Amino acid sequence: MIQSKRTKILCTLGPATDKKAMLERLIRAGMNMARINMSHGVHDEHARRIRRLAEASRAVNVPIGVLVDLQGPKLRIGELTPEGINLKKGQTVHVGGRKSSAPETWIPLDAPTLARELDRGDTILLADGSIALKVTDTDKTALIVRVTRGGHLTSRKGLNVPGRALSVPAFTTKDKADLAFALKHNADFVALSFVRTAKDVRAVKNALKRHKTSKPVVAKIEKPQALDDIDNIIDVADGIMVARGDLGVELSVERVPAAQKTLIQKCAAADRWVIVATQMLESMIESATPTRAEASDIANAVYDGADCLMLSGETAIGKYPDRAVDIMTAICRQSEDTAWLDHPVQTLHPAHEPDLTLRKSSSAQTAERAMVDAALVLLRESDASALWVFTQSGRTAQLVSKSRPEKPVLAFSPHQDTLRLLSGQWGIRPLHVAMVKTTDEMVTAGEQVACERKCARKGDRVIVLAGQAPTIGATDIIKIHHVRK
Ligand code: PEP
Repeated sequence: MIQSKRTKILCTLGPATDKKAMLERLIRAGMNMARINMSHGVHDEHARRIRRLAEASRAVNVPIGVLVDLQGPKLRIGELTPEGINLKKGQTVHVGGRKSSAPETWIPLDAPTLARELDRGDTILLADGSIALKVTDTDKTALIVRVTRGGHLTSRKGLNVPGRALSVPAFTTKDKADLAFALKHNADFVALSFVRTAKDVRAVKNALKRHKTSKPVVAKIEKPQALDDIDNIIDVADGIMVARGDLGVELSVERVPAAQKTLIQKCAAADRWVIVATQMLESMIESATPTRAEASDIANAVYDGADCLMLSGETAIGKYPDRAVDIMTAICRQSEDTAWLDHPVQTLHPAHEPDLTLRKSSSAQTAERAMVDAALVLLRESDASALWVFTQSGRTAQLVSKSRPEKPVLAFSPHQDTLRLLSGQWGIRPLHVAMVKTTDEMVTAGEQVACERKCARKGDRVIVLAGQAPTIGATDIIKIHHVRK
């Protein structure tokens, strides 16, 4: 039996999920989407993971969307030996430049221009801020630094220079190659790391256009500059990720909780998809049980109104990937069951008082939103047990999701890519139906699938919301349907 929580879970794939049986366990435990992190690994490895995931998704019969996460202008150190190096407070270390004959005091760098941009006295943070370095000298290719906070450092860890606007391009040469890879392997979403302004998101959208596609783009918010341009970023992006790891380093940890709430509320007002990411069950990389603080963090993200929660190292390299998903599912379900669902996110979108002024819309979008709101009023005020959305592009179901209906929502589509697009939308259960010609045949096909999957029974009354054409504003049918099967 598939778990029926409403908040979706995005799992990062990695060596710990490299068996098909493990992927099937993750899906059964409540994974809805998978992330391929292009900051690690090579294309062949990622391609194998995407193929294996597709097999597992078919075996369990649950659509799983794939999000390819582009590294963007994120700075990283290069490859160290597998055991890494120990950095001690007060020690002098070289960063970048030519390979050193003293590997224990040399940190290779994946950013050749960095040494030219930093000055004596600048602070460099490594590995999500756990290690701190102070620049004591520079030349054209390398930095000489003093360790001010020590720790154990392993390959490809992130490098931040808080407060510095560096000249690395937003959408790098590596990102362009990784985007071509993502499209070749039919990824469903593209995320860009270290977005600074709406222009950065547009660069990815334009590249997608050049590839003659319009896959949704998720802007990862992890820089203070992005918060300064957030309304424009939300306007142009299809979704936002609250990337708390780097945000905590670039902004400071104490400002992350308020940033999370603000971003989620802005996304609610703009009907934008929002993912909360990083350290949600960090202790479970090593431990079979979560801390109480982690349980509260997940519950609070649910109360805040996140659509989707992300696991990173917990599933990619952790000792207990399937247990982490099980536990996250249980906490989400418990949190969704509490009165806290009447949280402010809902008061931004009361279905009985649709506030269309909150949304910047064309008239087609306004009409579409009005249809969705009307169906939701009917759902709430009638004895209907569920809302059935028949959707070509997935757009109508996305709008339904952002209104947080209390009753279950099934989204039927004949297109597998639409079902994968909907896999990460809050409260939406995507189900495949055959392509048919008339509305009556469409509802009959949906009824058959819903009954087979035990989502409906004879005598149920449901609200149907449907559109025939795959364009915005094509939603043109609302009806009450009695299940006859
Ligand atoms: C983050 O920094 O929170 C994040 C999600 O980025 P990544 O996992 O790609 O470092």
